[in-house]
Amino acid sequence: MIKYNLKCSNNHEFESWFSNSEEFDKLDKKKLLECIYCSSKKIKKSIMAPMVSGSKIKEDGVSFTNKKLLSQKNDLLKIRNHIENNFEFVGDKLSKKVREVYYDKQTKKSFYGTATSEEREELAEEGIDLLTVPWVSKDN
Ligand SMILES: [Zn+2]
Repeated sequence: MIKYNLKCSNNHEFESWFSNSEEFDKLDKKKLLECIYCSSKKIKKSIMAPMVSGSKIKEDGVSFTNKKLLSQKNDLLKIRNHIENNFEFVGDKLSKKVREVYYDKQTKKSFYGTATSEEREELAEEGIDLLTVPWVSKDN
């Protein structure tokens, strides 16, 4: 089981469980996903990415903090490609991995994956910020 943070086209955020990432894609294609608040069927999967190597991201001229940029699909794809090429995917082990890197200053690895909101809060209390990146699909 995997828990995703989902976001609808009206920016409502909510969480949902899926048996795996393929299940999400399947349901999304069949338009079986809908926002629990407004029933919008335009649902995006958000994925947590740590800010471990924020400097690297800026080299691409794409700032994660620029909300205007984030609304552009091409930029989101750029970010996705960048993350896939430069970050190691650790799935739901994200909070564990990020913590390891945070306390071992020698390591300069960057990870992406999923984290629960509880894990995210725990990390925030320790001073580790995770970033939620809207995960756009490459086709459509
Ligand atoms: Zn909604």
